[in-house]
Amino acid sequence: MSEAPVVELIDVQKWYGAFHVLKDVNLSVKKGEKVVVCGPSGSGKSTMIRCVNRLEEHQGGRIVVGGIELADDLKAIEAIRKDVGMVFQSFNLFPHLTVLENLTLAPLWVKHIPKAEAEDLAMQLLKRVRIPDQAKKYPGQLSGGQQQRVAIARALAMKPSIMLFDEPTSALDPEMVKEVLDVMIELAGEGMTMICVTHEMGFARAVADTMVFMAEGRVIETAPPQQFFSDPKSERTRQFLGQII
Ligand code: ADP
Ligand code: MG
Repeated sequence: MSEAPVVELIDVQKWYGAFHVLKDVNLSVKKGEKVVVCGPSGSGKSTMIRCVNRLEEHQGGRIVVGGIELADDLKAIEAIRKDVGMVFQSFNLFPHLTVLENLTLAPLWVKHIPKAEAEDLAMQLLKRVRIPDQAKKYPGQLSGGQQQRVAIARALAMKPSIMLFDEPTSALDPEMVKEVLDVMIELAGEGMTMICVTHEMGFARAVADTMVFMAEGRVIETAPPQQFFSDPKSERTRQFLGQII
């Protein structure tokens, strides 16, 4: 993979008020690459990936997504948001809309796609996440695993070229984790560029091209999974892996 990165963070700094939450963060993601980010709670993982689609603003350094630099240009931010899908820990579905309506809302109103076409695509995506029979239900009528698969389908409905996942399985009952990870593994196999914050190390071993370990707002280690798991360079990575594996 020699082409330019599709996501690049260069010496990124971010503060929440006086609190320096991201310190000199560097990350480079190529097209089709799968990056898995792990690290202790509070280390800045969510903040970092939220900066990639400008849900959070950075104050120093540069973030370039799909060749567009994230700055104050609202058009650029809009363009990046259309191209970057995000899945959150807490699903964030619209509770008053059916599953189908959740999937067609943005394609209809943001992309101005004809309704029949949007519904067609939504049904294809629901088949892909294996819940086409749930289309007419409301999110509250679904299990957590099903809701998270709807959230993934909803993000895919915008045909993003990059997908961000922020601990997508950590709010799920254990028996539902696999059905969500299976969908993510499939997506990875189709060549999607992915940045996943997760502590599911089985998933990481299966799909990651690159592992990133963060602590206290810094990227401590970036390595291919084989090296990351068998021979981490940093003592802190080693300690962390010892605690979670
Ligand atoms: P992680 O996802 O690794 O658990 P976060 O990015 O959520 O870490 O948070 C990093 C740090 O920033 C934590 O100390 C958290 O309390 C703090 N933080 C997160 N969001 C905000 C916010 N909106 N305002 C102030 N502090 C925040
Ligand atoms: Mg987080």
